[in-house]
Amino acid sequence: MNRVAVIGAGTMGAGIAQASALAEYDVVLYDVADGLLAQSLEGIHASIDKGVARGKTEAEVAAKAKDAIQLTTSLETAAQADLIVEAAPEKLDLKREIFATLDAAAPAHTILGSNTSSLSINALAGSVNRADKFLGIHFFNPAHIMKLVELIRGDFTSDETVTAVQNYVAKLGKTAVLCKDTPAFIVNRVARPFYGEAFRLLGENAADPATIDKLMRSIGFRMGPFELIDLIGCDVNLTVTQSVYDAYFQEPKYRPHPIQKHMVESGRLGRKTGRGFFDYDK
Ligand code: NAD
Repeated sequence: MNRVAVIGAGTMGAGIAQASALAEYDVVLYDVADGLLAQSLEGIHASIDKGVARGKTEAEVAAKAKDAIQLTTSLETAAQADLIVEAAPEKLDLKREIFATLDAAAPAHTILGSNTSSLSINALAGSVNRADKFLGIHFFNPAHIMKLVELIRGDFTSDETVTAVQNYVAKLGKTAVLCKDTPAFIVNRVARPFYGEAFRLLGENAADPATIDKLMRSIGFRMGPFELIDLIGCDVNLTVTQSVYDAYFQEPKYRPHPIQKHMVESGRLGRKTGRGFFDYDK
């Protein structure tokens, strides 16, 4: 496996592209507009430079990684890869459409993976004619730093596909954990009450976001729920919550909170828009 394509150059796509390039893969990064790609590449370069400044990445490795990333707005060009990791918005129909196009254009050996946080891998695999070469490859945010990667097998994913992707994840210096195709897999399922209870506390005016975050940090969490949601993106967090809620047939404990919807509707998406529960302009 030499060439990795990443579909979607947003928060996760950029991190996955960076991690893959630093692990010496040739990377092709796809998004729907040149401007988005240019902005994403700028962020990747800045992040790689930070790694060099902190002594975590050698200058030579950094330079090679920067050269290894190619940009494209053509899905057909992106499809010419050994492994494709899709990190487009969390919408089933959109992802299915992307995979159908990639499936038609990619070489027969190409493995297709989705970075979905919550959608059914089987529902996505149903859009391609190579379900044996399809799986979930779920990175965590920030993808170039977080070590855990959930690998989600669909009903038809072959052992060869799993082994090939386990090797890819290992080459990235990360740890792959095999999961079943259950709603939100392991980590996001376990994390639902972390967000849900925080929203209920906020909705009841029990405390403000900064206080709730501080309390959670004080008992050992690296980040509080609101700063984490700002990092993830309030829109992504809402979509994932909604998708888990629906996947469990409107199970009340997974119900999204009106505050989540309000944050998204008012454009306060978190770090990526400069404002979420906290202000990032300063
Ligand atoms: P994002 O909004 O930051 O990025 C999505 C990118 O997809 C954008 O650059 C957008 O321009 C692009 N896009 C829009 N339409 C597209 C299309 N038709 N084809 C290809 N790309 C398109 O979102 P994100 O946070 O990077 O999330 C991407 C995926 O990763 C989602 O499935 C999400 O659930 C998952 N995920 C997110 C996180 C997180 O913390 N944000 C963590 C793990 C997994």
